[in-house]
Amino acid sequence: MKAVVVEDEKSIIDAIALAFEFRWPGAAVIGAPTGKEGIRLVQEESPDIVILDINLPDMTGFNVLKEIRKTSAVPVIILTVRSDDEDMLRGLEAGADDYVVKPFNYLTLLARIKAVLRRTEKTPLKMKKDALISPRLKIDFVNQKVKVDGRPVTLTPLEYRLLVLLVKNKDRAVSHKRIMEEIWGKSYWGDTENIRICVRRLRKKLKDSPPRMILSKRGTGYLFKS
Ligand code: CA
Repeated sequence: MKAVVVEDEKSIIDAIALAFEFRWPGAAVIGAPTGKEGIRLVQEESPDIVILDINLPDMTGFNVLKEIRKTSAVPVIILTVRSDDEDMLRGLEAGADDYVVKPFNYLTLLARIKAVLRRTEKTPLKMKKDALISPRLKIDFVNQKVKVDGRPVTLTPLEYRLLVLLVKNKDRAVSHKRIMEEIWGKSYWGDTENIRICVRRLRKKLKDSPPRMILSKRGTGYLFKS
């Protein structure tokens, strides 16, 4: 279990780290005192969850969240100061998975984290059999079959996994790093050639030319447009 906690109050980071250690012994809790540092750590560390304070010294938590969401679908729980519905709504709109109001009891925080992790793990299973992904694309997640314009398309396991990863994060860019780790299962060394080739094959098979479904985000990764 790896968590990034974006919060400028060290005492809160320490307390959250203790709570994690209690529930997930050996958990890595990485503190980021600024929003900028938090964005960098989420990209570099690929954490399982992010705890994000809304009030940070250099930028608002909302803007941190927007930046994170450009490249990652990691579960994010925001910390708001008081029961401010507007903050909570803004956070959820910006892509937070849940929120906790400060000051909070650490058992409450742990309960929220567990609930969010359970929910995000279940997302792929909830996808319907034969789901219509876009007007041209249909995916049967149970039998792993893909249809384009009503015609079956044969994908390699690698191509299928890449397509599903992009579809699961539709309208959000998925970083090269994440694609490399999730599809090839290895660390990212800055070489995007494998990914580029796989995307080219996928586009060809999906007759996505010029690309309207799988879009390249220069220097970042790829995005599936719904
Ligand atoms: Ca703060």
